[in-house]
Amino acid sequence: SPIIFWFRRDLRLADHPGFFDACRSGRPVLPVFIADESVSGLGAAPKWRLGLGLEVFSRALMARGSRLILRRGPAAQVLRDLLQETGADAVWWSRLYDPQAQARDSAIKSDLKTQGVDARSFAGHLLFEPWSVSTGSGGYYKVYSAMWRAVQGREIAAALPPPAQIPPPAAWPRSDDLQTWRLGAAMNRGAAVVQAHVAPGEDAARARLDAFVETAIADYKELRDVPALDATSRLSDYLSLGEISPRLLWHAGQRARDARKTGAEHFLKEVVWREFAYHLMYHAPHMLSGNWKEGWDRFPWQTEADAPEVQAWKQGRTGIPFVDAAMRELYVTGRMHNRARMIVASYLTKHLMTHWKVGMDWFADCLVDWDPAANAMGWQWVAGSGPDATPYFRVFNPDLQQKKFDPDGVYVARWLAETQADPPETALSYFRAVPRAWGVAADDPYPDPVMALDEGRKRALAAYQLRSV
Ligand code: FAD
Repeated sequence: SPIIFWFRRDLRLADHPGFFDACRSGRPVLPVFIADESVSGLGAAPKWRLGLGLEVFSRALMARGSRLILRRGPAAQVLRDLLQETGADAVWWSRLYDPQAQARDSAIKSDLKTQGVDARSFAGHLLFEPWSVSTGSGGYYKVYSAMWRAVQGREIAAALPPPAQIPPPAAWPRSDDLQTWRLGAAMNRGAAVVQAHVAPGEDAARARLDAFVETAIADYKELRDVPALDATSRLSDYLSLGEISPRLLWHAGQRARDARKTGAEHFLKEVVWREFAYHLMYHAPHMLSGNWKEGWDRFPWQTEADAPEVQAWKQGRTGIPFVDAAMRELYVTGRMHNRARMIVASYLTKHLMTHWKVGMDWFADCLVDWDPAANAMGWQWVAGSGPDATPYFRVFNPDLQQKKFDPDGVYVARWLAETQADPPETALSYFRAVPRAWGVAADDPYPDPVMALDEGRKRALAAYQLRSV
């Protein structure tokens, strides 16, 4: 009887331990994707990006004589229905580590097991399972550099090839039509504008990794902080949906390091930042919704997501060029350079003294590479409330950051139309992407700062000292 393989954030064929084993079992395999609460609860851009990923992944399965069966509803119910309809007696999947998925999956596992179904979960989303790395005293790492030291020399198994064949069942169960899920419906910005910046799917991910290793990894350490350059891997949206495995990145990075490409080690370190975020989320899931460090609940954050200065931040109209350029890059491309993420997060949480959760939620709505662990860790790191965080009193000055990382203003000019006579297409595309309700136009004057940098900095530091968090 068939094995139901339940795909979630692992939309790939290569280096997929669970799917590889299922296909090798000699039994028919039924690939399934379920739109349950974990999908309906996604922000607009990640949900839309998931739709693109599913489309490509369905085609990839089809090309191998298989299919992706799409069903909607609570996962436990859908799986029960499918078991009954198909006579399958096994449900396998790759593990996820956020608290909602953990709770759902363990309930489903025990429910299926009591019915005598072979319910199995596999590794694959991470290099190191969260319980496989611990400090000398048996806890989890709260300091990144210590975790890096602990894992950098570990042997990591070679990546697996795609399954040689995907044995089909004798009959296929009914599948929803992906279009009827309308996963892009909440993209009230011009999805077509964002689409130009996204290339979904496993093949595109592999091509991107190869190109990055070929042309950019050597200089990664020096250039990764320059937002005007295409100097980073840009693999995060693929990793988020599992269109590429972290193991492929790891081995590609190792090979580049062996070939003496100097930036390769730094790239491996960044891949381990992702692991660090996942381990934190697994062991301290409260970091997704609350301050990780004690004392921070007393900090007088403003929490109004629609406050005028927060609106200005979201719309890229704070009057601070580097911040606005970055927020527009986010809106138009669904991505933002890491250096820029740090700067806009610092500006929101410090100059505008707004709770990091407000920023985290906006990112969760706008990022095509949204990842629960990396997003929460990133925000708490900048805000100062997270583990191994930057201290609150380290307030980035966006103007100085621009001088340092965008000295010729190339990045800012790419995204801000109002400040130039003949703006480039990228800057103009922002005005096509924004909802009409924002009421912005390319010939508007560039706004004055909603908060002067010096004043905002002083206010934040005074609040910090007063609350002595
Ligand atoms: P590269 O520089 O090529 O790095 C390779 C990979 O390493 C990335 O794809 C990513 O998986 C991982 N990585 C790199 N930096 C980090 C980091 N600081 N934390 C965790 N993993 C990292 N990353 C997300 O994937 N999703 C998010 O939702 C997200 N939100 C963030 C929010 C804030 C406030 C900040 C400061 C950072 C956030 N990051 C997030 C981390 C980082 O900005 C992105 O992973 C990175 O910009 C992606 O670009 P890249 O693939 O070219 O990265």
